[in-house]
Amino acid sequence: MQIGVLALQGDVAEHLHAVEACGVKALAVKKKEQLETVDGLIIPGGESTTVGKLLVKYGLDDAIRERAQAGMPVFGTCTGLILMARDIIGSEQPRLSLIDIHVQRNAFGRQVDSFEADLVIEAVGGPPPFRAVFIRAPYIESVDPGVEVLAEYKGKAVMARQEGRLVAAFHPELTGDDRVHRYFVDMVREAVG
Ligand code: GLN
Repeated sequence: MQIGVLALQGDVAEHLHAVEACGVKALAVKKKEQLETVDGLIIPGGESTTVGKLLVKYGLDDAIRERAQAGMPVFGTCTGLILMARDIIGSEQPRLSLIDIHVQRNAFGRQVDSFEADLVIEAVGGPPPFRAVFIRAPYIESVDPGVEVLAEYKGKAVMARQEGRLVAAFHPELTGDDRVHRYFVDMVREAVG
């Protein structure tokens, strides 16, 4: 089993490291051919307009959609969450449209560009709560039927799942707590069978 980390921009190395910490092989994915060799894909944080354009440029948008359609689990964090959303409020930017959520970009305001919070995420176990790092983070304004909210912060959904699609508004790769990555690894294991 091998899990890919989309490597067009953003904190790729941290995700590769987190996947390996779960005892699973990790591969930086820049090309379509590499995507064919992975059983699951993580889309890291970065800048969603930039990554969205690069996805189109390299033909990776269609390739990811096809693999996801065929059952490959996909996990998007921050920019990854934005790109996976079907609706980015007030924006027409390119996206993958993989999960039925309505997302607000840079939603926590400028004065709190970056902050940390303890989240209760029952799906990944605990106590202790999960220390979550938010960086110019989006939140999920609302979800459509079929989407399960896995974590909230101040009444806003910040982690959700719809079948093989997982999204988090925060950066689970930055804290050394691998519970969220383990949760995704289990999703991939299940899909591989
Ligand atoms: N604000 C960024 C965007 O809109 C996301 C920031 C991040 O990924 N940490 O893409």
